Amino acid sequence: MNRVSDQETRNEERETNGIAQIRPSTPDTRHPSLDTRSSHNLIAAVGNTPLIELSHISRDVAPVRILAKAEWFNPGGSVKDRPALGMLLDGHRRGDLTRDKIILDATSGNTGIAYAMFGAAMGFRVRLCIPKNAGALHQRILRTYAAELVLTSGQKGSDGAIEEAIRLAQQDPDLYFYPDQYNNDANWQAHYHGTAEEILSQTDGHVTHFIAGLGTSGTFMGTGKRLREANRQTQLISFQPDSPMHALEGLKHMPTSIKPGFYDESLADENRCVRTEEAQSMVKRLACEEGLLVGVSAGAAIHCALQVARGLRDGVVVTILPDNGMKYLDHHFW
Ligand code: PMP
Repeated sequence: MNRVSDQETRNEERETNGIAQIRPSTPDTRHPSLDTRSSHNLIAAVGNTPLIELSHISRDVAPVRILAKAEWFNPGGSVKDRPALGMLLDGHRRGDLTRDKIILDATSGNTGIAYAMFGAAMGFRVRLCIPKNAGALHQRILRTYAAELVLTSGQKGSDGAIEEAIRLAQQDPDLYFYPDQYNNDANWQAHYHGTAEEILSQTDGHVTHFIAGLGTSGTFMGTGKRLREANRQTQLISFQPDSPMHALEGLKHMPTSIKPGFYDESLADENRCVRTEEAQSMVKRLACEEGLLVGVSAGAAIHCALQVARGLRDGVVVTILPDNGMKYLDHHFW
């Protein structure tokens, strides 16, 4: 049996477990047609991640505190479970994500893993456009969830994957549900309603600085907007790779990339640049000094947080650790 027909067979088998058919005995009030108590209870496992204090790394900057959301506690292992779930639920609510559709999007890895995981649990086929040179372990995870991969030019990076997803969606609009994570408001809204609310409750609202890297910019835009509404004094700092050629997976060099539709650079009080080597050496420090094995963009976030903290007398600096280091263990810098 080839990959597609194999997947089709399994989708038919799962049809009775699919979103549209499920009628929970006690309905979930947020998503009435979804059973959040089923055995595949992935939806309820998304969010409410720990906020970890990095007390060793921040020793030199005391009394400034550095706190970070450990997003690998999400069931798909990254921050992208939040927006992926948000976009699927939104599509379902609008009637765009129907049982016959294939979920299609461009991804550098983590959003794809989230779509593939939810697609497997809910009985949807998932087709992902991903640059050829995306992490080997990311690709292996995606294939294990039975996602179909459309490999795009490594040189064109995430923009090449976006172009291919647009082409496929335009060529066959009835075949696909194309959330388009770069232009879908449900992406940043997942952080506005989820990530930010959690940070506010975990800190009792005491956040002086919020720092996040820019990929789709959903994390920064959604979390930043809500934190700013809660306290106008909170400083919002975005960061991005310092050059178009970088190894900060999941992040975009905005000046040379297709600009995400909802990205508004004016939200940030400041934008910083991080070099790949700075992020990688922070990844090693975090493993040895804090016992945290994080991904490269998480290393970049803490590098940035520490730099910001060095310029302060007092404050609570909050950032995001988008994923852990497991998928990057085949990278050469370790
Ligand atoms: N870090 C990693 C590892 C990611 O996968 C992503 C998502 N592309 C980001 C950071 C950036 O998140 P966002 O898309 O919300 O800007």
